[in-house]
Amino acid sequence: MRPTYLQVDLAQLKQNLENIRAHVAPAKVLVVLKANAYGHGVDGVAPFIAPFADYIGVAIVEEAIHLRKMGIATPILVMGGTLPGQLPDFFEYDLTLAASSLDLLTAAEQLAASTRKRLKTHLKIDTGMERIGVREYEAEALIEKSLSCSHLEIEGIFTHFANSEIMESKTMESISLLIADGAHSPSDSIVKASLQLERFQEVLSIYERRSEPHPLIRHTANSGATLLMPESHYDMVRPGVLFYGVYPARDIERTIDVKPALTWKSQVVYSKITLPGRGVSYGSLWQAEAESRIVTVPCGYADGYFRRMTNQPRVIINGKSYPQVGRICMDQFMVNAGLDDVKVGDEVTLLGNGIAPEELADWAGTNEYEVMTNISARVPRVFV
Ligand SMILES: *Cc1c(COP(=O)(O)O)cnc(C)c1O
Repeated sequence: MRPTYLQVDLAQLKQNLENIRAHVAPAKVLVVLKANAYGHGVDGVAPFIAPFADYIGVAIVEEAIHLRKMGIATPILVMGGTLPGQLPDFFEYDLTLAASSLDLLTAAEQLAASTRKRLKTHLKIDTGMERIGVREYEAEALIEKSLSCSHLEIEGIFTHFANSEIMESKTMESISLLIADGAHSPSDSIVKASLQLERFQEVLSIYERRSEPHPLIRHTANSGATLLMPESHYDMVRPGVLFYGVYPARDIERTIDVKPALTWKSQVVYSKITLPGRGVSYGSLWQAEAESRIVTVPCGYADGYFRRMTNQPRVIINGKSYPQVGRICMDQFMVNAGLDDVKVGDEVTLLGNGIAPEELADWAGTNEYEVMTNISARVPRVFV
């Protein structure tokens, strides 16, 4: 096997799920397995975790089909946008549709009537993301229509938060600092999760007024809301990053005990003494001041070890932390082992064993989600 690999601790993932479940009970837990299980490798994670999940969430229908072909029988909600042309797959693979528009709901009902199969459907309400979904102020028509869709099983209703990981006690000023990595908008446009919840609650009231008592699965909470807003848990929560052991923001109190399950490892593939003044790697961005042992690690940005981290990361070799030096290449990067006797074949840890996903996110100037989901398919996943 390739010396560069990702080790995934399945028992830790199960423990994370159990700890989340204990925190939100009696609410159910939808486990989010989109984006290759946040990079962990869905082929190993899904069969192991599905028996313990009440529901599975994916972003796109292709991910759901992949799970069904693996034999996963747990209900699967396709949370993202669906084109009308993709609807037949929902019938064929027994998937749950996020009905995010009146048109999609109508198309689904027509197809269900003609195929005589009932399709599980969750109404998607947009309370402040301005992404997919029907806004709370136009939801009445969607609800009205859903009540006449006799061929659909209207099973749930949900919304998604834009800022759930931001604590409400924060001032607007500190909020805009928090989201500074993408702050293109004035802070007064930030929609608070509590406002989104109010809007969702209005929609639920419309539903309750219109319909016979009907137990819809109501769900809103991503990881941030699972942690910070117990009133958002309703009947089910949808933790993604938290299930993978990572908090959605750094300043959230650790009220649910979860831990990352990833260890990214490699091996030294070359070891040489480099003379002072000899620039290392493309662009010769780094050079040693004195004779130094420069070792090469067979992992690069094509594996998801971002090029823009160049000269910032540290790795662990033989229990010691060393700096990455020189431009990170597509398939290799270099490490300055100083005067230490680091040899070909020595194990290198890139993530885990004391290197947190948060550190990689900082070096890459992004968040933990992007770091994890970008560990590429070229890196074998080993499930333990
Ligand atoms: C990805 C996603 C989640 C999970 O988000 P986290 O922040 O990782 O918890 C929940 N709901 C929807 C609709 C999503 O797309």
